[in-house]
Amino acid sequence: MIRVIAFDADDTLWHTERLYLGTKTRFMQLLQAYQSPDWIDARLLETELRNLQHFGYGIKSFTLSMIETAVELTEGRIRGSEVHEIIALAREMLQTPVELLEDVEPTIRQLADDHRLMIITKGDLFEQETKIAASRLGDHFDLVEVVSEKTPQTYRAIAARLDVDPTGFLMVGNSLKSDVLPVVECGAHAIHVPYETTWAAEHVPNDVANQYHFHRAHSIREVPEIVAKLNGRR
Ligand SMILES: [Mg+2]
Repeated sequence: MIRVIAFDADDTLWHTERLYLGTKTRFMQLLQAYQSPDWIDARLLETELRNLQHFGYGIKSFTLSMIETAVELTEGRIRGSEVHEIIALAREMLQTPVELLEDVEPTIRQLADDHRLMIITKGDLFEQETKIAASRLGDHFDLVEVVSEKTPQTYRAIAARLDVDPTGFLMVGNSLKSDVLPVVECGAHAIHVPYETTWAAEHVPNDVANQYHFHRAHSIREVPEIVAKLNGRR
């Protein structure tokens, strides 16, 4: 029996990656006088990956990476007004209204009727709490966990704290690397619902993913049926 259904938030409940891609495009435009877009793109990703261990996930961390990339690619010639524009881009990202993915609200409402629901999201506490409040979905979830990384240990600790056996725990998310594979490694269930794009840092090669047993859905709308099957109701 599935006792707890946990959801990832970014690009599972609401759009996020779109916002980053849009900002990245504007960042490249801002610095186009200095370098080609491809070069800026590659360098920014490198900086982001390097900085994850220092600053974690989220918009503030992304902003520091944009500034660091800009300083590097201009060899320190970036102007104060350009740094200011980068900070304005970040502020705009933080102020962008939360846009739920299609079918999220009715599906969560349906599942909340007879399951314990929770959110497990990576990132900045303030940012994620703000988005959860803005999503108006908060009341359907018994628990929200904002974690710095999603490893098997993370999931094991959450299940233990909830006093749920891994076989009674299901995670739903768009990232194989964060929401699916570490969950399966704990002996729990996972449903992969891919988003329209995957951030390079979350990419998992097919031959690796194929070694794991998990469920696949095209939309969150398919989750209740998979849960019913797992519960042996059909
Ligand atoms: Mg996600």
